Amino acid sequence: MPIYEYLCPNCNGRFQKLVQGFSDPVGLACPRCNNTSVRRVVSRVAVLKSEEARADALADPSMLSGLDENDPKSIARWAKKLGKELGEEAGDDWDQMVDEMLEEELSNDGSKKEDKKADDLGWG
Ligand SMILES: [Zn+2]
Repeated sequence: MPIYEYLCPNCNGRFQKLVQGFSDPVGLACPRCNNTSVRRVVSRVAVLKSEEARADALADPSMLSGLDENDPKSIARWAKKLGKELGEEAGDDWDQMVDEMLEEELSNDGSKKEDKKADDLGWG
């Protein structure tokens, strides 16, 4: 389950959201000023499995080379690469999880439903 970090250009605030799949959750808004024109900070995409390993992996800029944040397949490739970086931390089912998320994203017909599992993590 990825956590995306969002940046609010209005108040310069950053906040994080648990996101299921690769799409921004519906009703996304800055918790501080309610601005809905927030943008995802891809460089801070994180995965809930390993705090330390993910920090190491994400600190490497080469991890993000060629990443197209608007292309779920590109993100899936990146996630798999990250999974290799995480090694055992990622678990055996990492690639499968990525594939399932990608599948879900690609089968999304555009009518996004309210994501009940998305959880506001508050300010980072
Ligand atoms: Zn704001």
